[in-house]
Amino acid sequence: PQYEEPKGERRADVTYDDIGGLGNTVDQVREMVELPLRHPELFQRLGIDPPKGVLLYGPPGTGKTLLARAVANEAEANFFLVNGPEIMGSRYGESEERLREVFGEARQNAPSIVFIDEIDSIAPKREQVTGEVERRLVAQLLTLMDGLEPRQNVVVIGATNRRDAIDEALRRPGRFDREIVIGVPDQAGRRETLGIHTRGMPLGEDVDLDELARTTYGFVGADVAALAREAAMDAVRRMLPEINLREGIPTEVVDRLRVERGDFLNA
Ligand code: ATP
Repeated sequence: PQYEEPKGERRADVTYDDIGGLGNTVDQVREMVELPLRHPELFQRLGIDPPKGVLLYGPPGTGKTLLARAVANEAEANFFLVNGPEIMGSRYGESEERLREVFGEARQNAPSIVFIDEIDSIAPKREQVTGEVERRLVAQLLTLMDGLEPRQNVVVIGATNRRDAIDEALRRPGRFDREIVIGVPDQAGRRETLGIHTRGMPLGEDVDLDELARTTYGFVGADVAALAREAAMDAVRRMLPEINLREGIPTEVVDRLRVERGDFLNA
């Protein structure tokens, strides 16, 4: 038999260890998504259907996409990403066609996760639906989800920032009937995320991640990631006067490179 490359992507690099501050949310996702994908026989034995659809609610940048990628990777499932707003803007019939294609490939390459980011843009509440495209796309999504059999081993994860912005028809049993809320991290959560994003960085001795976690009230995971990245770039910029780009960067300069507390505070 011919070997075919699965069409979904499997990001070997994202694991649960890359997710900070979500606490038992990760356990919930493992139970709802990873367990049925890895062990469908458990559910068969008990005579219950595993969830077909799970909704992740939370503000932008809190790690919804990251979590979906991690669970796909840890469950050894293929990952298919659908971007809500992106799939909307196509010619007549094209959006539904693309959605059908994604579900078809997910089924062929099961176990799979179909991740629909910003799902509210393709399935907004009916009263908010203005366009014909939205109406048809919601109908198509419902048909595709209703057509998924438990034994096909495909789980659909939808992500949105607005809990109340989704068409109720999508939340009926057998569709997106599980919900997980992902909040803005607290101080301990920020500390954990700071640890993750500075993992590979040579930190100066004066860097106090506990204090940074205290002073970054309101930061979500994406903000923490940006902070760490900018601090590292600040460290590089500090070195620039010593560097002659034409001659290359001496190893001894690279070796001295450290991210200092001041870099974080400036970032
Ligand atoms: P959006 O609603 O904007 O799509 P999202 O909730 O899906 O946001 P992600 O795209 O997962 O957020 O996050 C963007 C980036 O921010 C991630 O790739 C990661 O680097 C960082 N990040 C976000 N949340 C976390 C987290 N909880 N732990 C570690 N890193 C995080």
